[in-house]
Amino acid sequence: MNRKKIAAGNWKMHKTFQEGQGLAHEIRTMAETEIMNDAELLIFPPFIHLQTLVKQMEGSKIRVGAQNINQAEQGAFTGEISASMLTSIGVSYTLIGHSERRQYFNETNETCAAKIKTALAHNITPVYCIGETLAERESNNHFTVVETQLQALIGLDLSKCIIAYEPVWAIGTGKTASSEQANEMHIHIRKVLNQLFNDELAQAVSILYGGSVKPENAQELFAQSDIDGALIGGAALSSRDFINIAKSF
Ligand code: PEP
Repeated sequence: MNRKKIAAGNWKMHKTFQEGQGLAHEIRTMAETEIMNDAELLIFPPFIHLQTLVKQMEGSKIRVGAQNINQAEQGAFTGEISASMLTSIGVSYTLIGHSERRQYFNETNETCAAKIKTALAHNITPVYCIGETLAERESNNHFTVVETQLQALIGLDLSKCIIAYEPVWAIGTGKTASSEQANEMHIHIRKVLNQLFNDELAQAVSILYGGSVKPENAQELFAQSDIDGALIGGAALSSRDFINIAKSF
């Protein structure tokens, strides 16, 4: 199965407007001169950068996405951003359900599903983040947690969706799941997608691994049968590291 290879950088709440333009410029220049593979590059900067960076990346292989959307079309939701606002400036991807949003902003599987539904209705590709906490892994519940996170999507058209498996205990901690642990879960996710949807979808969906991915471990992760790329936090704030990860396919 020829699934899309993707290196996605989540900038979280980092980079001023000027710093963001500088980082994006470096990423574009390095991508053009150094990346020879067909990997897709996605960057997810904070909202203030989106309009400028969509323009800055025009004609390049880099696409720009949001870190979150609201599920409602519009309305009295102070501080929120709608899907049509994002498409009106050319944004075509969004993260959904990152563990930090689940942990600090109380996002549930149900809100995530509603957000994905809205994103898809606006032709925005969602990157749905799932994964277990350390306590859930240690109590051997990691497979069940991920299954429940996927069950919330029943009824949606997942053919336009990307999944990111991010064990919460590996995000920003320097701890990476071993490539075997990560691949084992990616295989499990495909099995669950087959049961909940169908095998064609399960085989076609790109599943990214996230959790302390660095240039040093990317190649081994990408060599696994079911790991199609990475969602990268800390290392995506360095153009050199982000590009070196993208070169590791
Ligand atoms: C993330 O933010 O999705 C992430 C995986 O972060 P880090 O690479 O820093 O662990």
